Amino acid sequence: MTQGPEPPPGRPKAASTPSGGSEPRAAGSVGATYIGRFAPSPTGPLHAGSLVAALASWLDARAAGGRWLVRIEDADTERCLPGLGEHILGQLAACGLIADEAPVWQSARGALYEAALQRLMAAGLAYPCGCTRREIDAALAARGVAHERHGERVYPGTCRDGLHGKPARAWRFATWKFEQEVPAASAPPAQAAIETIADEVRWTDRRLGPQRQAVAREVGDFVLRRADGPWAYQLAVVVDDAAQGITDVVRGEDLADNTPRQILLQRALGCPAPRYLHTPLVMGADGQKLSKQNGATALTTGALAEALGALQAAAAVLGLPPSAAATPAEALAQWVAPWAALYNPRP
Ligand SMILES: [Zn+2]
Repeated sequence: MTQGPEPPPGRPKAASTPSGGSEPRAAGSVGATYIGRFAPSPTGPLHAGSLVAALASWLDARAAGGRWLVRIEDADTERCLPGLGEHILGQLAACGLIADEAPVWQSARGALYEAALQRLMAAGLAYPCGCTRREIDAALAARGVAHERHGERVYPGTCRDGLHGKPARAWRFATWKFEQEVPAASAPPAQAAIETIADEVRWTDRRLGPQRQAVAREVGDFVLRRADGPWAYQLAVVVDDAAQGITDVVRGEDLADNTPRQILLQRALGCPAPRYLHTPLVMGADGQKLSKQNGATALTTGALAEALGALQAAAAVLGLPPSAAATPAEALAQWVAPWAALYNPRP
């Protein structure tokens, strides 16, 4: 159902059913149709940085003659603010970015994530962990591994053989085990952009080029769900992308290093791997990614000129030419061809 450019749509009834679309497609079938998505977390209003990802994913879908969906990633209910999802949808609509279907809300899809976790548990690829952060640091220190202040905390595997009487605090993906159990030769046909997942994940980003990460060594057994409720981003994204038949993920470059974890989960759950394009980040005054902490202000998209100005700024970040269009819709239409020339060369 296409929504008109009316005021921000409320939470649609239809989106509360735990269905996200058709049956997951077989791996390797990507290419026949294009389905893209923008998936904001309602932890703050849309700002200049998130609009870049929204615009890029919309243009990519249009350039490919495909569909564009919006998914509100409010699975981590603790961090999400009430009403912000609706607000973001309103901001997008003001910029002419209207989803081709009713938006999907992750907070209504817990049953799907639970089913995926149960499948991983049954396959021996997920296990409960009772460690506190402090215990993880102590175990790492005992092995002589100092945890860098901003570095990734690689879980030392303490609970792989059981909880030892402790209550479960989280469920983790058995990365080390999965990597050992996936002989490259017997892996199902991978989407062309994914070269291998044995030992390390090697994949090709449409903008960043070849990427690699040894997930077991660099990230470890990552969290799928915390015992206090929230679903981890990695699991929810993989389940939803598969359920919605997403063929192309276009999102900010800050999420690029999450991709190998998601590729492993896709393979473990038998989901197809989408193509990936990670967009340039908008930097704050401190040279860091633009965020609420370093001055990202919410976009004001109330007036036509404001929405157009926000889109122009986002387009410039993507390397698109300035537009003299009078409305967001007109500007969007003008950028489809330049986008295709820049990012979308099809084989
Ligand atoms: Zn543990």
